[in-house]
Amino acid sequence: MPPTAGLPLGWRDLSAGRTADFAERVAAFLEVAEVQIECSGTACLIVALSALRDSSTRRTVIIPAYTCPLVPLAIANCGLKVKICDLAREHFDMDPRRLAALCDSDTLAVMPTHLAGRIADLEAASMCAQRVGARVIEDAAQAFAQGKRNLCASPAADVTFFSLAVGKGLTLYEGGVLYAPDTELRSAMAAASARIIGRHRFLECRRVVQLLGYAALYRPLALSFAYGAPLRRAIDRGDLAGAVGDRLPRRLALHRVGSWRRRVGTRALARLPEFQQAAIARANTRVSRLQRVPSLKVFADPPGVQGSWPCLLVLMPTQTARDSALVWLWRAGLGVTRLFVHALEDYPDLHSIVPQVGAVRARNFASRTLTVTNSPWLTDSQFEHIAAVLAEAAGPACSIS
Ligand SMILES: *Cc1c(COP(=O)(O)O)cnc(C)c1O
Repeated sequence: MPPTAGLPLGWRDLSAGRTADFAERVAAFLEVAEVQIECSGTACLIVALSALRDSSTRRTVIIPAYTCPLVPLAIANCGLKVKICDLAREHFDMDPRRLAALCDSDTLAVMPTHLAGRIADLEAASMCAQRVGARVIEDAAQAFAQGKRNLCASPAADVTFFSLAVGKGLTLYEGGVLYAPDTELRSAMAAASARIIGRHRFLECRRVVQLLGYAALYRPLALSFAYGAPLRRAIDRGDLAGAVGDRLPRRLALHRVGSWRRRVGTRALARLPEFQQAAIARANTRVSRLQRVPSLKVFADPPGVQGSWPCLLVLMPTQTARDSALVWLWRAGLGVTRLFVHALEDYPDLHSIVPQVGAVRARNFASRTLTVTNSPWLTDSQFEHIAAVLAEAAGPACSIS
């Protein structure tokens, strides 16, 4: 099983024929005026931060202490300073009190993050940002979802970006979608992109080959070789960052997305609404099932909103319980894995970028979470097996630590 519910590609998606413009279709899907397509979520963030930086003297960006390690890399790439904010209790949101204390006259932007497609508290982040005149950048990398369910329908963010990387839903192998409600900021971001992102034949060719590989291999049988075997090898080596694809690139790839990959995106996007409706229905049933397990927390959305459902995000009572569940499930080919392995402070490669502040809740969250795939290929009986193992691991027998 893949770790998340990625949209499989069909051979027809790969045809070279003409299609509607990808950016226009994505804007229609999100029900916004206009979006910008970039080569990754990271590239979107770099473009947005460059545009904001050039019209401000502020130089600090505040992010959650547990998020994708590419985020601080992007911030540093723009010559900006990273501040990390520890999490709220038993949650992935930034703690509002700490966030308020961190915000000051040097804060350029605050970045609430919708982890695993679950909706973050934008209101709280935006109140803190407004008080000091900072912007809100909504990291919706894992939350590309349709229309009004969508996060960028919320007026609280100045900038929203989504990732189209493998594993995040719709994919161009790598890609990103960037949006700002304010037309002036949109023009500034388009100008920043024109200035800093060039064409790069070699990188684009590589992405074309990788996207073809995805089309060929993103199916149950092939995935056991293409994803399962390397995953098990990484786990056996003790290379956990490698197992979850957390390893940091030496250089960030920045280039324009070519026209063929955009056309593939347009064709695949036509199937996404139906695929996501089914994902919501499946997730609702399975979340309720896991919510019946005492001492286990499964994240859901507040009433009235629905994020995207790539996977279910589960917080186990203790690290021991989480690790004992993974002993049974991580190598089992059932799409159970971990999100980012460390809190940001604990990636050795980020030590020169991320300040050491001792964000204990972020570390605790990293040590107790796991994810369960929401792929349509995971059958009910496989899911039931996962639920039983989680219940056993979370139960009193295993939580002696
Ligand atoms: C994946 C991810 C990113 C970066 O997106 P890429 O498309 O991989 O560059 C940023 N933030 C979060 C929370 C992510 O999960």
